Amino acid sequence: MSAGHGLIALASISAKRSLHIMLELKPTCECCGEVLPPNSPKAVICAYECTFCLTCAREHLNHICPNHGSKLVERPSLPVSAMVSPLSGASSTSAV
Ligand SMILES: [Zn+2]
Ligand SMILES: [Zn+2]
Ligand SMILES: [Zn+2]
Repeated sequence: MSAGHGLIALASISAKRSLHIMLELKPTCECCGEVLPPNSPKAVICAYECTFCLTCAREHLNHICPNHGSKLVERPSLPVSAMVSPLSGASSTSAV
């Protein structure tokens, strides 16, 4: 009896997925709009995958994501999906 609702839920999920893929294919600095290719050494990301260029991170973001207050770290030249382990192993960073 839940067939109708199930279809609606499925449709909204797939719409979200395709939007996410579009964003991943177009990585630009959310501050200045500079294009940051996947292998760019100038790209930094926050824990929620916001992307900024290293210049903005250094010059006026203070290495903090303005959207989430999360620390901006250098983005490895790997797909975001492969970065789960470094993010979850954040306990190795010693608090001063
Ligand atoms: Zn920038
Ligand atoms: Zn963010
Ligand atoms: Zn900027």
